[in-house]
Amino acid sequence: MSDKKPRISFEYFPPKTDAGRERLLTETTTALNAINPAFFSVTYGAGGSTHDSTQGLVTAVKAAGIEVAPHLSFGSDSEATIEQLLAFYQEKGISRLVALRGDVPSGMGGFGQMAHANELVKFVRAKTGDHFYIEVAAYPEVHPQALSYNSDIHFLKGKFDAGANSAITQYFFNVESYFYFLDQCAAIGIDKPIHAGIMPIINFTNLARFSRICGAEIPRWICQRIESYGDDKDSVVKFGIEVVTQLCQTLLDSGAPGIHFYTMNQVEPVREICNNLGL
Ligand code: FAD
Repeated sequence: MSDKKPRISFEYFPPKTDAGRERLLTETTTALNAINPAFFSVTYGAGGSTHDSTQGLVTAVKAAGIEVAPHLSFGSDSEATIEQLLAFYQEKGISRLVALRGDVPSGMGGFGQMAHANELVKFVRAKTGDHFYIEVAAYPEVHPQALSYNSDIHFLKGKFDAGANSAITQYFFNVESYFYFLDQCAAIGIDKPIHAGIMPIINFTNLARFSRICGAEIPRWICQRIESYGDDKDSVVKFGIEVVTQLCQTLLDSGAPGIHFYTMNQVEPVREICNNLGL
């Protein structure tokens, strides 16, 4: 295991209701912040669908004295909208960003002036210099629209060449896919940290549906085990915590630079997994 402390971060999405937002900002953030993460991040609906709620949540987390990284997924947003957001975040003292292409929801039109995330990274650097520490997305199991494994890594390098500082991966359950990916990235000259994105198992039906869309593989043995529990939700949760703890332990023991938890706005099971890991 590396001597360096792994970086831990937690991802939120903007809740749809005031009550959900209140709960997230009080109970959830207090409980997760006790784990001492490097930052929280807040997703942004491509096409601006969460423009105000992302901005509002980011501002509230920052106002509580907690480090926060807004996601910026341009979708069909214009350059002017992105520039306004950057100015807003700078003014609020935000110094991190997660820069993405985003997936535009159907019916919201196509992409705006930019087509790929490397252009957004370039744009942010052109407008704000070195102000932001920029994260980008990486795909150990390959982005679903990628032309090939190699082209996907090549374009990840393009995002670093444009000025990104580090990456966070799409979630995965096959630990080998992550370490193989790190080796392949290193082989083409990527020398920046690639943090492991980890999804806790909360609602398996939703997870299975989303995994099919984003191209993350849930190993057959995990699916079979969960199916065998039927409606016994407690056993599913217990098994999910066991599997994800084991995955994270292997990542940390093998030198992953950090873990980014897709919290789904829930304290548990992320807190229990972190406890199991001694974080
Ligand atoms: P890109 O890097 O542009 O890649 C998209 C595809 O194009 C890939 O197949 C790639 O191989 C290819 N490609 C990349 N660059 C080029 C190029 N220059 N020329 C040709 N092809 C290229 N989505 C949201 O809407 N909001 C969020 O807040 C959000 N947060 C996320 C956080 C993380 C950590 C991750 C992993 C994903 C997140 N997503 C989010 C999902 C993400 O927007 C989608 O996966 C999207 O489809 C791709 O985004 P990207 O930034 O990786 O795009």
